[in-house]
Amino acid sequence: MLRNVGFFVLVLGLFFSSAAQSGKPLRRQASAAPATAPLSRPKLVVGIVVDQMRWDYLYRYYDRYSSGGFRRLIGEGFSCENTLINYLPSYTAVGHTCIFTGSVPSLTGISSNDWIEQMTGQHQYCTDDSTVSAVGSNTRGGKMSPRNLMVSTVTDELRLATNFRSRVVGVSLKDRASILPAGHAATAAFWFDDGSGNFITSTYYMQQLPAWVEKYNSGQPAAKLAAGGWNTLYPIGTYRESDPDDRPYEGRFSGETTSTFPHKTDEIYARSRGSLRATPFGNTLTLDFARQAVEGYQLGHGEATDFLTINCASTDYVGHMFGPNSIEAEDTYLRLDKDLAAFFQFLDASVGKGQYLVFLSADHGAAHSIGFSQEHEIPADYWNDGALVDSLNKMLAGRFGIEKLVRSGMNYQISFDMGKINGYHLDFDAIKKRTVEYCQQQPGIAYAVDMAKIGEAPIPEPIKTMMINGYNFKRSGAVQLALNAGWFESEGKTGTTHGSWNPYDTHIPLLFMGWGIQHGSTNAIVNMTDIAPTIASLLHIQMPSGCIGRPIQAVTGHQDRQ
Ligand SMILES: [Zn+2]
Repeated sequence: MLRNVGFFVLVLGLFFSSAAQSGKPLRRQASAAPATAPLSRPKLVVGIVVDQMRWDYLYRYYDRYSSGGFRRLIGEGFSCENTLINYLPSYTAVGHTCIFTGSVPSLTGISSNDWIEQMTGQHQYCTDDSTVSAVGSNTRGGKMSPRNLMVSTVTDELRLATNFRSRVVGVSLKDRASILPAGHAATAAFWFDDGSGNFITSTYYMQQLPAWVEKYNSGQPAAKLAAGGWNTLYPIGTYRESDPDDRPYEGRFSGETTSTFPHKTDEIYARSRGSLRATPFGNTLTLDFARQAVEGYQLGHGEATDFLTINCASTDYVGHMFGPNSIEAEDTYLRLDKDLAAFFQFLDASVGKGQYLVFLSADHGAAHSIGFSQEHEIPADYWNDGALVDSLNKMLAGRFGIEKLVRSGMNYQISFDMGKINGYHLDFDAIKKRTVEYCQQQPGIAYAVDMAKIGEAPIPEPIKTMMINGYNFKRSGAVQLALNAGWFESEGKTGTTHGSWNPYDTHIPLLFMGWGIQHGSTNAIVNMTDIAPTIASLLHIQMPSGCIGRPIQAVTGHQDRQ
């Protein structure tokens, strides 16, 4: 008996001592770095967000994409074919924030591009910051910073993980799409200034533009790109994925009398520098500037992994103006594809093939133009938030005796005047109840819900979760609306927009390529919040501070076999 116990203790002791000596936990850890090799990370991470890129654009234009752009991403990389936005509203600032934080408006505070501070009624633009100034121009467009973002980004976490040896740079035509991805601790973020036609930044990041930015701006690259005019890349008769060129639901550049090719971008640019945004040359400019940033900061050649975030915004402006079924949209994607191919080639040469990790996604998709849908008998219609607010205020004044209790219907949310409601001691629950009942009777509104009572609301998943994820108590309206499929808020009758829960707005591409990525694809549902923790896992860094997503095992899982 005694002998047996002794043997058991001996075996147990050997077992624990061998585990302690190897320094490994008893159970094999899934994606731990190999014990014998130094920690391996890519030299550079490049996060590309194509603004307003619907997932189906990968395949709609597939046959005419080159082998080096989108088809290289699909052919060499890993594609998550069913990546969905999991919050409301599906707008630009929120999308960029979600991709880089793995988090949602409820936590990030970036509840939309613009919101109403609920207690004060103050209108807030997501990256406005009156405490900083423009660097590179003297316009208001430079008074921008990430200070309204309440959580860290995966780019912040990389800086923290490497004790700030990593450099993080954000590039976009849009301030918000440069600033929010690059995070709080960014080395730099640059965006396009409509007044000067230059790339600028703010005193949040630096006091003076780097010499390479000054030099780049002095060459007037935007004017040069506009000078050639915008005609189709291929003969216009070959654009089979789009409507004929002149449709009534396509918008026009200021000064144009038709919405047809060729668009005289030289004249259009001379009238308004910002108009370059709504041409494919805005993407060319952005990727060209990104290339300058790689060289200017020597990204991928530092002591630690660097991170470059790029937003190609022109796809969004073109989509808003001309709609998804326009030749302008098709041509913009074919040109972006070529620009991406050239950019990847540049990275191959500058950083080295397989030495950088690139991922590409979108901040949101877009609906078809309403005129286009209606032509084809697909349910769609216009909706106007201003008209709803006016009629709601009339109804509520009749009930509660106070004028203008509703401040706004922006973001498909009803924001109330909390000063009046608290000052007159009104019954807020009763006001919301009447508001919900009234809204649900209006044409085009599928759901209206008092967010304090969403637990009891008969709304199907995943819409309910998207509403909860999108609801920020201080920065979102107390009553959330969802319109019928195909309906959207619009004052004009041309182009399109986004913002809803529907798949056309929320089904986005997600592709990974390069360092640490094996070729493949998955049809499993992936949430937009999963992107940041996947990047964090690949880099062996902490996930961002408000992250609620999970690493995509199909992308990170291969590390088990290393
Ligand atoms: Zn956008």
